[in-house]
Amino acid sequence: MNIFEKDHTYIADTYARFPINIVKGSGALLYDENGKEYIDLGTGIGVNIFGMCDKDWMEAVTHQMQLFQHTSNLYYAAPCATLAQTLCERTQLKKVFFSNSGAEANECAIKAARKYAKDTKEIDDPIIITLYGSFHGRTITTLAATGQDSFHTMFCPLTPGFAYANPNDIEDVKRLVNKYDRRVAAVMIECVQGEGGVNALEKDYVQALAELCHAQDILLITDEVQCGNGRTGTLYAYMQYNVLPDIVTTAKGLGGGLPLGATLLGKKVEHVFTHGTHGSTFGGNPICCAGAQSILDRLDETFLSEVRKRAQQIRTRLAPCPGIRSISGMGLMVGLETVRDAGEVIADCIQRGVLPIKAKNKVRLLPPLNITEKQLSHALDVLYDVCCMEK
Ligand SMILES: *Cc1c(COP(=O)(O)O)cnc(C)c1O
Repeated sequence: MNIFEKDHTYIADTYARFPINIVKGSGALLYDENGKEYIDLGTGIGVNIFGMCDKDWMEAVTHQMQLFQHTSNLYYAAPCATLAQTLCERTQLKKVFFSNSGAEANECAIKAARKYAKDTKEIDDPIIITLYGSFHGRTITTLAATGQDSFHTMFCPLTPGFAYANPNDIEDVKRLVNKYDRRVAAVMIECVQGEGGVNALEKDYVQALAELCHAQDILLITDEVQCGNGRTGTLYAYMQYNVLPDIVTTAKGLGGGLPLGATLLGKKVEHVFTHGTHGSTFGGNPICCAGAQSILDRLDETFLSEVRKRAQQIRTRLAPCPGIRSISGMGLMVGLETVRDAGEVIADCIQRGVLPIKAKNKVRLLPPLNITEKQLSHALDVLYDVCCMEK
């Protein structure tokens, strides 16, 4: 059996894969089994933020691997504590709970919000408001949090306690707050909805939401699983909205290719968890944390200004393209509404050695943050041409 046959025979049929077998990579370049080179504009869905086999990240990871790989959370481990310190110091949030994925980071945020409502207001049936078009994960609870009906129907009954509002419509949130009254424990948003089609929320809306939450003692949770860790040109996307969330969740790019999730707890909720109230066997794995530390240390202002330049390069090059109707997103998280079918655009890009991904009906770009100007320029030339092709 070749790899394709073996995969189809033995792996659960949840993924419609592209017919490419990646065997190695370096930075923004990937190579398949035939030696064909690709420029990676997807980074394993925003995970490999310094591209493939980044030297500093590999050094940090392999150094830790030679010391110890796992302790369980029964003992102390320096990489975990140091990473938490870095995250707190760079966000103004107070404490971190580590897990292994975005869904788990959001599960933790949901538990924190529910416990806060119980502890401070004796609420036994709290509601968390999320937005239509959002994506918060694949567990039963984070599916319930995901504001897209298509994800809900197959797996009922879902976890109760969620209500959905239209994005960029503050009156819709107010309507739900009035409807559920004191029961609303939190509002959870993605500043840039990723899976929902790469749509950035409006600044005025997020600010109004933060004010509303603050006034009513409702927690503001930002899911930065995809838009965090430098992706939008600031360390976290909320930083471009002049708000301070009560809880920030992240994963994907944080580990740079190894599984790591983090739930950052602000002042209101820093003491919400006590011994035994939450946990994870693998959470805060020292190897993953050591890698993440090397990544965060490099995401400084100088580097982030380069990210913003690359982001501008994409918009400048693609804005005049007649095959592209609109460009959405923020920084190096880009959605292209194409005249041609997005799937066909992607297939033709792959032919020409460029790997974008999809989000709803859009072509989505999540290149490595350190992609060079030249690599990006070549990839954009290909995208431009492919978007204009007649079929
Ligand atoms: C990918 C994603 C998740 C889920 O992360 P997993 O690591 O797949 O569990 C949650 N929220 C957002 C915004 C995401 O993009």
